[in-house]
Amino acid sequence: CGIVGYIGKQPAVPVLLEGLKKLEYRGYDSAGVAVLDETGISTCKTVGKLANLEEKLGQDYSKTCIGIGHTRWATHGRPSDINSHPHLDSEEKFAVVHNGIIENYLELKEWLIEQGHQFISETDTEVLPHLVSYYYEGDLVEAVRKVLKKVRGSFAMVVLSRQDPDKLVAARKDSPMVLGLGEGEYFVASDIPAILNYTRKTYILEDGEMVVLTKDGVTVTDFEGNPKSKEVYEVKWDA
Ligand code: GLU
Repeated sequence: CGIVGYIGKQPAVPVLLEGLKKLEYRGYDSAGVAVLDETGISTCKTVGKLANLEEKLGQDYSKTCIGIGHTRWATHGRPSDINSHPHLDSEEKFAVVHNGIIENYLELKEWLIEQGHQFISETDTEVLPHLVSYYYEGDLVEAVRKVLKKVRGSFAMVVLSRQDPDKLVAARKDSPMVLGLGEGEYFVASDIPAILNYTRKTYILEDGEMVVLTKDGVTVTDFEGNPKSKEVYEVKWDA
C-alpha cells in the first residue's frame, strides 16, 4: 500500500517512518522497515499501526543511511508480522517491499520450492526476493530485470541488497511510484507526500520504468535497460 525507500546521508529509519506516516491516510494493516549495515539486512515488522512499529524498533536501531519501508494492505495472506513487508530470500541477501499483486505467484512459488527455496509467508510478494536471489549473478540490476520479465500483475517494488550495499533498485507497473531528488540523498515512494518534508524536486515514474538510486543520483531506464530521460516535477503544493 505505502512504500518509502531512502539512500543518502542521514539515518534511514526516521526518514522511512516519517514518510510512511504521510501515507497512513491510504489505510494499512501492518508495517515494516529493512535497513542495511555492515552486519547485513535487519528488518522490523509488525501487524498494526506505525506506532507499534516505532515501539518495536525502540531507540537502538541501526543508524545506517540506506533502507526501505512499507505499510501493507493485505491482498494475499492475512495481516500478520510474518506476512508484513519487507520480505527476504532464504539467505537474507535481498529485501523487497511491494505494492500490488503478483498474479502468477503460485506457479513461481512452486517452481522456486522445486529449486530448493524455502518460503515462510503466505504472500504473493515473497516470490520477489527469492526470484532476485535465483537470478543474481553479481549484478543486482540485471537480476531485477530478469525478475521483471518473469512476473505478471501490478507492482511498485523496491529492492535492497546486501551484495550491492550502495544502491536501491525500484520498478513500477500499474502501481504509482515517484522519486525524490535531494542533495546527496534520494527517495523513492508510492506517493509524493512521503517525501515532501525532504525535497520538492521529483520524477514521476511511468509504467515500465526501472530506477537505480545511489547516494550520488538516480538513473531511470525501461525494463530492458534503455535510458529514459525524465523532467523534474517541482511540487508547489503542501500535503
Ligand atoms: N499483495 C501484497 C501483499 O498482500 C501487497 C499488498 C499491498 O499493496 O500493500 O502482501
